[in-house]
Amino acid sequence: MKRAVAHPLALAFSFMLLLAALPAGATTITIMNANTGLVGFNDPTPVAPVAGNAGTTLGQQRLNIFIAAAAYWSNRLASSVNITVHAQMVPLTCASTSALLGSAGPTDFWSDFTNAPLPATWYPSALANTLAAADQDTGTPEIAAQFNTQLDNVPTCLGGIHWDYSIGGVAVPHTLPFYQTVLHELAHGLGFLTVVDLTTGALAQGQTGPPQDDVFELFLEDHSTGKTWGTMTNLERKTSAKDTGDLHWTGPHVVAASSVLSAGRHPSGHVRMYAPSPLELGSSVAHWDTVLTPDELLEPFATLNPKDELTTHLLNDIGWTLQTPAPCVEGADAACLQSGRFEVKVTWETATNTGAAQVMSFSGPRAENDESVFWWFFSPTNFELGVKVLNACSLTNTFWVFTSGLTDQGWTVHVRDTTTGATQIYSNALGHLSSTFADTSAFSCP
Ligand SMILES: [Zn+2]
Ligand SMILES: [Zn+2]
Repeated sequence: MKRAVAHPLALAFSFMLLLAALPAGATTITIMNANTGLVGFNDPTPVAPVAGNAGTTLGQQRLNIFIAAAAYWSNRLASSVNITVHAQMVPLTCASTSALLGSAGPTDFWSDFTNAPLPATWYPSALANTLAAADQDTGTPEIAAQFNTQLDNVPTCLGGIHWDYSIGGVAVPHTLPFYQTVLHELAHGLGFLTVVDLTTGALAQGQTGPPQDDVFELFLEDHSTGKTWGTMTNLERKTSAKDTGDLHWTGPHVVAASSVLSAGRHPSGHVRMYAPSPLELGSSVAHWDTVLTPDELLEPFATLNPKDELTTHLLNDIGWTLQTPAPCVEGADAACLQSGRFEVKVTWETATNTGAAQVMSFSGPRAENDESVFWWFFSPTNFELGVKVLNACSLTNTFWVFTSGLTDQGWTVHVRDTTTGATQIYSNALGHLSSTFADTSAFSCP
């Protein structure tokens, strides 16, 4: 059974370009470029490569971000069914002080499909397909996403703030990070949202029967009454959506992981959701509360370097299976630090070439120990970059990552936590003397 959603799509199948995100034995997420003509993802305007993004046209840099964001979720979630994202970059409203940055969501919701965990409950398309192990509607993408080109094209839009197309670079003043924005919006498309009418508290209409719960809303609780949204009246849900501080996520995977928070967590392990009063349509309920510390990816407003400590766990709560992280395997281009918990890999980029950096051996033995590793790019005797991962669990309850290079070539460091699957990226743009990173909140302990 299927439900039409609020944002119908005009699909341009005849012009689509299919690009698969790096499948690492995980979910395959395919980006469907829905832009036609020389705009959006096809914009031929020449641009200089930026940190972690070697594209040389505006359109290619935009598309590279989408592919990287799709790869991120591909490596966190497991699914036997391909997920297609209908993506376009178009002019949306933008004034000097406010703009619609973009949006993404499921294209449909389904209930009572094969293997549906709960009867009479709405599941977003991608999740329904995964749970059913079959595409419910092969002709329709599972997620639709669109982002505003006006930030790049109209000087007065947001007073000149534009998209930053780097991945893992140093924050650029007067920009908004496009990579984090796409990661955030794709999570909504994967199911981080409710279809309850927040202005009335009413459940979404069933296809033929009475109104039905959606799987996200079933994990919401109003701590002041102890009631969960699935047991509330419409009026109680409407009130709960504005009960600042008391609207909680109660799913077991989030609760089990919530000790990483130093703010935004109830002693029970419940985690605060965004519930301002008055209601903020588009932001309320379907985001973590802004009080969460460290900042999470799915907060309603962009923050600097948000973490995904809980967002993936929330997707696990609503029914996604998490990808089992692969162990670290030491190799010429891979180092395993902190007893093998962290895998470090580095790629380099010149004006004409790219490649995988290799672990240094200054005079025979590998120049690494359990917490630091040196890398060469072009010649085994020529050091280019150092990476350290330090155990600061007794100091800040985190692992720290430091990187420093002696090169003006482009590079990208990937550090992967093999216990959680979390990955941090640090990168330097081609033609710039190496950025130095000191990330003291890189990974959570234990
Ligand atoms: Zn609670
Ligand atoms: Zn959002």
